[in-house]
Amino acid sequence: ESSTAAAFLRDENEHAAHNYHPLEVVVSHGEGAWVTDVDGNRYLDCLAAYSAVNFGHGHPTLIAAAKDQLGRITLTSRAFHNDRLGPFVAALSRLAHKDMVLPMNTGAEAVESAIKVARAWGYRVKGVEQNRANIIVADGNFHGRTTTIISFSDDEQARADFGPFTPGFISVPYGDAAALAAAIDENTVAVLLEPIQGEAGIVVPPADYLPEVRRITTENNVLFIADEIQSGLGRTGATFQCDNAGVVPDLYLLGKALGGGIVPLSAVVGNRDILGVLRPGEHGSTFGGNPLATAVGLAVVELLETGEMQERARVLGEDLLKNLRALVGHGVVAVRGAGLWAGIDIDPSLATGRTVCEMLMARGVLAKDTHGSTIRLAPPIVVDAADLTWAVEQLSAVLEEL
Ligand code: PLP
Repeated sequence: ESSTAAAFLRDENEHAAHNYHPLEVVVSHGEGAWVTDVDGNRYLDCLAAYSAVNFGHGHPTLIAAAKDQLGRITLTSRAFHNDRLGPFVAALSRLAHKDMVLPMNTGAEAVESAIKVARAWGYRVKGVEQNRANIIVADGNFHGRTTTIISFSDDEQARADFGPFTPGFISVPYGDAAALAAAIDENTVAVLLEPIQGEAGIVVPPADYLPEVRRITTENNVLFIADEIQSGLGRTGATFQCDNAGVVPDLYLLGKALGGGIVPLSAVVGNRDILGVLRPGEHGSTFGGNPLATAVGLAVVELLETGEMQERARVLGEDLLKNLRALVGHGVVAVRGAGLWAGIDIDPSLATGRTVCEMLMARGVLAKDTHGSTIRLAPPIVVDAADLTWAVEQLSAVLEEL
């Protein structure tokens, strides 16, 4: 049987582009917070596909919505209407307390779409001179992998040999509202931020940062775009991390968990005075708003409307962060987090994050390193409390072995 795993690894190695460096586990099944590999080994999934599987593998309601829709119709394109897009955008608007939704597929597409919307808003509403618009972003950001998005990344690995880049972005230190205010000029149309920086290592800004950003952007007639693609939809113990910070951005960017871990589904969500700038023919996507994705998306929104997932992430997260903080000084340098989302800095003199993840895998826990020595934990919110405690015990045991 183990030769099966070797064959899958060989095929991937030979025929899939090497743009990732996965752990050597070949997953074939999943249920809730657990996955099984082709050899029958079980692992607690503590990554949840970078928070796309917030509600667990095979969530019965979401799977039922997908199966039901598979038997009806899966794709119409938006040349025609379909009977799933309307209910989805109405429900998501309600959940976000906004007027409108622009449906796309991947997170990067939502970011790209918001950049276009913000620029068009700048020229048509704010009155910025053509081709002069700028957007302020933060150092350490991660918003995706397209050419325009990597244009304002400061991660050299993400950029090297991929230029020339798209102009029109200004990067300032994350968490520093004064620096952001100082960077705004008459051509600034938007500020684009992650409310918590995920890929940077679960970097939580000072408590007054997002409220200050909201105040500054409002005063300067600049849009505040919150990229909640990783932080949103339950992960941080709220529908949006902006809720925890007490702010309402102009545009929410959503993705990952919006498709329930079943289909790619992303969205830009905002009011009519902003999203209404788009006119027919100016923007689109063949699969954006397709009936299969929006049927699942509606079921996701209905799941979030009860507030149960958000509450569960909040309660489980308190225990998780408390247990992780007890490891500081025992191989762990620092722990950051919010809700059921933690960044753990391993003492770099002991091991790389990669090594720790490989040792965790041998003990039945799947996690992913980021930026050398940081490990990110983001298990599905449906995870059992006891399983989560067990996972931290495995990390503790790994640290003792180093
Ligand atoms: N924005 C944030 C905050 C993300 O974390 C990610 C993915 O990790 C993206 C955007 C890009 O999403 P996608 O990989 O679906 O393009």
